[in-house]
Amino acid sequence: MIKSINPYTNEIIEKFKQDSKSSVSKKIKLADKTFQTWSKTDYARKKTLMLQLAKELKKNKNEYALAITKEMGKPISQAISEIEKCAWVCEYYATNAKSQLKPLEIETDAKKSYVRFDPIGAVLAVMPWNYPFWQVFRFAVPSLMAGNVCLLKHATNVMRSAENIQQAFINAGFPEGCFQNLIIKSGKVEDVIRNKRVKAVTLTGSKAAGSSVASIAAEEIKKSVLELGGSNALVVFEDAKIEETVKTCVQARFQNTGQSCIAGKRLLIHESIYLEFIERFITEVRELKSGNPEDEDTFIGVMASEKLAKELEAQLTSSVEKGAKIILGGKRSKAYFEPTVVINVHKKSPLFEEETFGPVMAVTSFKTDMAALDLINRSKLGLGVSLFTEDLERAKAMIPQIEDGAVFINEMVKSDPRLPFGGTKESGFGRELSSFGIHEFVNKKTVYIK
Ligand code: NAP
Repeated sequence: MIKSINPYTNEIIEKFKQDSKSSVSKKIKLADKTFQTWSKTDYARKKTLMLQLAKELKKNKNEYALAITKEMGKPISQAISEIEKCAWVCEYYATNAKSQLKPLEIETDAKKSYVRFDPIGAVLAVMPWNYPFWQVFRFAVPSLMAGNVCLLKHATNVMRSAENIQQAFINAGFPEGCFQNLIIKSGKVEDVIRNKRVKAVTLTGSKAAGSSVASIAAEEIKKSVLELGGSNALVVFEDAKIEETVKTCVQARFQNTGQSCIAGKRLLIHESIYLEFIERFITEVRELKSGNPEDEDTFIGVMASEKLAKELEAQLTSSVEKGAKIILGGKRSKAYFEPTVVINVHKKSPLFEEETFGPVMAVTSFKTDMAALDLINRSKLGLGVSLFTEDLERAKAMIPQIEDGAVFINEMVKSDPRLPFGGTKESGFGRELSSFGIHEFVNKKTVYIK
C-alpha cells in the first residue's frame, strides 16, 4: 500500500493499492496504442482539449488544492495559486504550440530543406511532492501538444494529487491513454525506463534520484531531462531599493514553506547595508503567519513530513557548530519549522554548501562584485540567481560570469510558461517551458529535397 499522510495532523488520509507488474505493463501498452492515434490528432483538436483542461482545473481548483494541502502541508491559498498556474500553462501551449512546432526551413543547396518536430512516443515523468500539480503540468502539457503521451510516477506522499491529475485529463476529454498515473514506488521505475515502449524520461527531484534515473536511461540510450535541486543566491548591492528588495527576498525564501527548488536560499548582502537590511528582513519575516495550512491566511504551513524537518534541523545544527548564528526562529516541532534567519554562515557549512529544503535563510556579507561572484558560483548547484541593484550596467556586466541557468534582476527567480526553465551543474540538464521545453521530447527530423 502507498499511504498519504497529513503532515499537519499526522492522520492517514488515504491508502492506494500499488499497480502490479502486469497492470504497469497494461498501462504502458495502452500508452503506446494511444500514441498511434494521438500523434496523428490534428492541432485544433489538441488545442480544444487543452483549453477544456484549463477550464476543468479552474472549476475544481478548490478541491484539488485542498488535496494538495492535506497531503503535503502547503498553505491552501498557495495551493489554489498552483492550480491556477497549471491552467495558465494549458492556455499558453494551446495558443503557442502550433507556431513552436512549425517546421523550420533552413536554406541549403537543396530545393528545400527543413526540420520537422515529430513526437517520439510515451515519456515517463518521475515527479516530486513540493508542487504536486505544477511540476507535472509543466512537463505534460507541452509533451501532449507535441503529440507524445505521458506516464507519471509521482512521489508516493502525493498519490491523491496524482490521481486527481489523471482524472482532470479524463474529465477534459483526453483519450484514456494520453495521461496515466502509475501507482508505484521508486524501486519500480527502472523496469518502466527499460520498457521498449517507453521512449524517454524526465525527472524532477534530488540528485540521487536524477543520477539513478539518467544512468538507466543512458544504458538504454534514451533521452533524459533532469530538474534537480538548487541553492539560489539573492545578491543585494548597496544601491538596491531596500524596502522592495526585503519583501521580494522574504517571498523568495519562505513561500511554499521554503520547499522550492528555486527558492533564494543564500542571502548575500553588501557589507555597507548589511545591518540595516538584516534588521528590516527579520522584521518582515516575523510578520509571516504560521498556522493550519487549511486556513486562508496561513503563509507558513508545515513541512511535508517530520523526517524532512529533522533533516533541515541537522543541517542547521551542523552550521551553528561551524560558527553560524541563529537570529530568528530555529526551533522545530514535529513537521513545523519556525521561519529562521541565520547569519555568519561559513562558506563550508551545510547551509551554504548543500540545498536546504525548508524555511531557513542563510546570510553572508560581501565587499566587492568579484567576491559576490565567487560566492554565487562556488555552489555545486546552478538553478538561478537574483541580483538587486539600480545599476543595470553593473548587473549586466555580471550576467555572463554567472554559471546558473537563470539570472533575474530585481526579481526572485520564478517559472513562467513563456520562459525556459532549468539548471546547470548539479541542478540538472535540459529545459522545461517555452519553445525550449516543447522541443526536448521531439525528433528534430532533418528533411532534404534535392
Ligand atoms: P526525490 O526524493 O528525489 O523524489 C522525487 C521523485 O523521484 C519521487 O517520485 C521519488 O519517488 C522518485 N525517486 C526517488 N529516488 C528514486 C530512484 N532512485 N529512482 C527512481 N525514482 C526515484 O525528491 P523530493 O524529496 O521528492 O523533492 C525534493 C527535491 O526535488 C529537491 O532537491 C528539489 O530541489 C528538487 N526539485 C527540483 C525542481 C526543479 O525544477 N529543478 C523542482 C522541484 C523540486 P518516491 O516518492 O517513491 O521516493
